[in-house]
Amino acid sequence: MVLSGKDRGQLGRVLAVFPKAGNLLVERVNLMKRHTKRGSYRQQGGIIEREAPVDASNVMLICPRCSRQTRTYRKKLETGFRVRVCRKCQEVVDGRG
Ligand SMILES: [Zn+2]
Repeated sequence: MVLSGKDRGQLGRVLAVFPKAGNLLVERVNLMKRHTKRGSYRQQGGIIEREAPVDASNVMLICPRCSRQTRTYRKKLETGFRVRVCRKCQEVVDGRG
């Protein structure tokens, strides 16, 4: 969920996280219009929309299980996987760690 900016209040899936840059890509949020050239592999010219990174401080994670704004903590499973877990309902939010 986006907290500020022109897409404030919008919900979207997180597509990618860039920890070093401190930002992330959120589906359908902060779209940038890009013009494509006629004659490229897309054949017809026009405008495509692509997500641009949003600063991490401007978004809040919404837990898919309890549907509330939440924070996560990292937990290491017995299998060795690191996951992120919802503090409110203990649901595993992100298995990539
Ligand atoms: Zn939850």
